[in-house]
Amino acid sequence: MNKPGIIQFKPVRDQVDEAEWKMRVDLAACYRLMARYGMSDMIYNHITARVPGSPDHILINAYGLMYPEIKASSLYKIDLAGNVVLRPDTSYGINNAGYLIHSTVHQGRPDIHCVLHNHARASTAVSAMKSGLLPLTQTAMRFYDRVSYHDYQAVALFDEERPVLLRDLGPINKVMVLRNHGMLYCGTSIADAFNIAYFFENACRIQIDVMQAGAEPYYPPREVMLRTRDIFENGPNGPGTAMSGELEWPALLRMLDRDEPSYKD
Ligand SMILES: [Zn+2]
Repeated sequence: MNKPGIIQFKPVRDQVDEAEWKMRVDLAACYRLMARYGMSDMIYNHITARVPGSPDHILINAYGLMYPEIKASSLYKIDLAGNVVLRPDTSYGINNAGYLIHSTVHQGRPDIHCVLHNHARASTAVSAMKSGLLPLTQTAMRFYDRVSYHDYQAVALFDEERPVLLRDLGPINKVMVLRNHGMLYCGTSIADAFNIAYFFENACRIQIDVMQAGAEPYYPPREVMLRTRDIFENGPNGPGTAMSGELEWPALLRMLDRDEPSYKD
């Protein structure tokens, strides 16, 4: 029997392979973490992940669930043309703007496996600033000269915006500020996308603090900014030690296992 206020979903674990199931669990965790850290927007926004071994299939949320309601079995599997491949046990559909933005990135950037779009408060405030993100702190310098900007063209519902989105994102950057709208974070993994979103939002919060304080900002030399970014990108101890969120991800999952284990259902 359903408990009041809790939606049950038919489990899909026996309909997918082990790799997809793990991806579903990680993606459901990512939704929960975005809500937990104050970076979600009720039922809106979207995070997608590419299904391992099926590069043309992505997982996306059912449009109508709050992020703390999302579970591994409540996710849609769709192809990059928008066709439903595996529908969860729900009457909710998917968000069309979400599908358009995310499928464009998954199609155009094969290196990206997780795309996260949100309207969190500080980064959205920075999206409305002409300067964009300023290299004021170590947290911000990590993104130095690696942030793309895309001009607002009303709610993204039209195919014509797709090539512009991809052109503005470019071939390397993993962060795009959607001006006057929100953010697009592109990760090589779900852990990577969450890590980027978390630290970019914090960098924006601090930028706003500095601006509100009214003090004259102090910037280190450009070489220092570049060196900081390179250390974050390449790892402090050479290749393979890049800070891509892999270290904290198991700790974040332990926290969810303790506090809200239903994400794994
Ligand atoms: Zn949006």
